[in-house]
Amino acid sequence: MQKKPFVSHEKLKEITARYPTPFHLYDEAGIRRTAREVSAAFAWNRGFKEYFAVKACPNPFILKILQQEGCGVDCASMTELKLAEALGFSGDQIMFSSNETPAEEYEYARKLDAIINLDDITHINFLAEHGGLPERICLRYNPGGELLIGSAIMGQPDASKFGMTKQQIFSAVKALMRLGVKRFGLHALLASNAADNNYYPANAMILFELALELHRKLGAEIFMVNLSGGVGIPYQPEQAMPDIGKIGASIQETFSDLMSPEGLGDIALATEMGRFMTGPHGCLVATAIHKKHIYKEYIGLDACAVNLMRPAMYNAYHHITVSGKEDALCDHVYDVVGSLCENNDKFAVDRALPEINDGDLVIIHDTGAHGYSMGYNYNGKLKSAELLLKEDGEVQLIRRAETVKDYFATFDFCDILKGVE
Ligand SMILES: *Cc1c(COP(=O)(O)O)cnc(C)c1O
Repeated sequence: MQKKPFVSHEKLKEITARYPTPFHLYDEAGIRRTAREVSAAFAWNRGFKEYFAVKACPNPFILKILQQEGCGVDCASMTELKLAEALGFSGDQIMFSSNETPAEEYEYARKLDAIINLDDITHINFLAEHGGLPERICLRYNPGGELLIGSAIMGQPDASKFGMTKQQIFSAVKALMRLGVKRFGLHALLASNAADNNYYPANAMILFELALELHRKLGAEIFMVNLSGGVGIPYQPEQAMPDIGKIGASIQETFSDLMSPEGLGDIALATEMGRFMTGPHGCLVATAIHKKHIYKEYIGLDACAVNLMRPAMYNAYHHITVSGKEDALCDHVYDVVGSLCENNDKFAVDRALPEINDGDLVIIHDTGAHGYSMGYNYNGKLKSAELLLKEDGEVQLIRRAETVKDYFATFDFCDILKGVE
């Protein structure tokens, strides 16, 4: 199956005439389409909300689009909270799903009246001292063991640092009830990039059963079941997009069977997807600037792992299209690499591609989530611009590229690098 870029060669030529590569390009129409599909898939649940995981794509222009589509935000740091606040998110529109949380971040999240998602039982006293306990709170569950779907291992909760054991959840709810907390949410993130349509329903089942048990045994009022993120996208051309409509319908069935008969039909469902929302709707555009032939064939790009870390970090597959050669025969085999002094700076290894010449525009797919945001500044390489391909076909700069001056900005307390730019 061919994986088609969302931007045509002609359009990309037009864009690169105005903006130098490398840059991340986002597709507004695609982001809105996915947001609407998610809303439709869970429309059966009155309180449903997708809290977009800000870390996946922390750009205010993208967050604004998602806000217009009815999404809230999932934050995990002071910076993310301040970004959310600046965009006008507050109260029930913010999930604060942090871990190893510093005191001042709890204090800030409480000031915004965000829904606090407690990662550990020891955080009860910590939060009580720093910001105070709210009237409603969410608790992060870690069921341990392996998450199996059929015979396939979908996740390894027992090796995950997040969440509380079942016993701790019960103790935490009891303690919090004594301390005056009235309503509880339950949250679990048990897999990452799960392409299987059964992941979310399996997670939902685990949380629904926990909710029922807490309700029956402790009389706890449960207001939210938060399925967190982890829904995958087809990075590989032969993979299919998870069917969010089917996923929603399957969860609805479990919900009606389990929750409604117990009088828990008003529980709001929440999601915190990042990758699924924006991942396919972004790409990294780079120019081939060098061709090297030693023991293997290398194509050197003007982008590097600083712009997209996933291949270097996880050996992740990102599909590559050579713009304008979409239908050409893939009769060359290349390592497509960046310029870091690190031998893992390879966007692709042994990839069959059409012949690439210096100056060709290379599109690296599926960088709309955990792409730009994961970047760093190794080798003093600078982070790229971000551009938005709007629904009307116009292109808008939504973040300028970093400059040398930006890189040195943290030395502004002294004169050594003054004026270097
Ligand atoms: C990272 C994360 C998400 C989003 O994960 P995706 O894989 O992008 O869907 C959601 N919730 C929490 C708590 C996370 O840490």
